[in-house]
Amino acid sequence: MSSSTLDSFAIVQEQKLKQLLQYVNQHSPFYKELFAKNAVDVSKIETIANLSALPTTTKEDLQQRNGDFLCVDSDKIIEYASTSGTLGSPVTIALTESDLRRLTLNEYNSFVCADGSASDIYQLMLTLDRQFMAGIAYYSGLRKLGAGIIRLGPGVPSLQWETIGRLKPTGIVAVPSFILKLIQFARDNNIDINRSSVKKAICIGENIRNADFSYNILGKKITEVWDIQLYSTYASTEMQTAFTECSAGNGGHLQPDLLIVELLDDHDQQVPPNTPGEVTITTLGVEGMPLLRYKTGDICMYFDDACACGRTSLRLSSVIGRKRQMIKFKGTTLYPPALFDLLTEIEDVLDFVVEVYSNEIGMDEVLLHIVPFNTTKACDNGIRAYLQARLRVSPHVEYITYEQLKKMQDQETGRKITKFFDKRI
Ligand SMILES: [Zn+2]
Repeated sequence: MSSSTLDSFAIVQEQKLKQLLQYVNQHSPFYKELFAKNAVDVSKIETIANLSALPTTTKEDLQQRNGDFLCVDSDKIIEYASTSGTLGSPVTIALTESDLRRLTLNEYNSFVCADGSASDIYQLMLTLDRQFMAGIAYYSGLRKLGAGIIRLGPGVPSLQWETIGRLKPTGIVAVPSFILKLIQFARDNNIDINRSSVKKAICIGENIRNADFSYNILGKKITEVWDIQLYSTYASTEMQTAFTECSAGNGGHLQPDLLIVELLDDHDQQVPPNTPGEVTITTLGVEGMPLLRYKTGDICMYFDDACACGRTSLRLSSVIGRKRQMIKFKGTTLYPPALFDLLTEIEDVLDFVVEVYSNEIGMDEVLLHIVPFNTTKACDNGIRAYLQARLRVSPHVEYITYEQLKKMQDQETGRKITKFFDKRI
């Protein structure tokens, strides 16, 4: 990432990096200890390239020593956010007043990148409680933007449409699979979605694109029937920062003054552009719980050529998969999102859960719990043939009812609907 267009970003980043290193070396019990143990002299780290001399931080570090990442006294903490705990136990991320201002700026920048302005009204179809950091981020970012805000919360398509009709929002912030439910409800109730006030959607939590920026099945299903501009986002509680697409839809833009991002291979080396690597972040300007070379577990690709919108900041592809969810199945490497896409594509599959477990010799096995369109042999044959053709290997298939599926998902306590059960040893 040494191309000249990135130089001005690099100067800001390096200055902020040096401040961060001094700061955590003084205030973070975790990093103080890590630096001492690895004989790291922070004054020697002066450039982004020098970063690779520092050890990485893992999710386990953050889970097991959560409190040791805190750099301030507890009376400076305003907001206690938490990760969703999709993988392992949830982690608390504590934010100071300064961190909340940083979070606001981050989300303001995101909405601006996604063509938002003060004349917009956004309907937030997500939770603002349950320690969900993104909820307050959207809210405060929109406050700064001066846009109208409708805090409707997740679910209840009937109420969403009634409110759209009444308050005429220009944009929505929603999980893409919920947008499909909105479309379905509109269809069932003779609502003409293309005559509604909504013209754009900030898509959160799920991919709408493949790694080559084309729409995936979810993105296609939405845009085929609804003439609406979709903006994909990628964010996490730990990084307290979002990558948001502009209207070109060529990957989420990095905010270089808020975050340093590296994409690392299995040996912690930076991968070239257009190559899958683990997103590894260093937060800039965070006061409460800053993170240094934190490995998110998300596999993405990056692009550093200039975007059609004129921005020269690095862009990230949508998440190809989670490192720990990688499935080695009969000689092929699979990530759950690819399976989700495939199953969503099959019309005879109404809903599903993907389960992975270890067989008696410790290899990964895939079991698909599927709610089929009907229980005929023809339906079964169709589903199996499709899977075989697309995967080249045959996973185990079990047909279940909606009730059984709901029961499986209710066992999970996360904020997101679970479509993936990892029962590997
Ligand atoms: Zn752009």
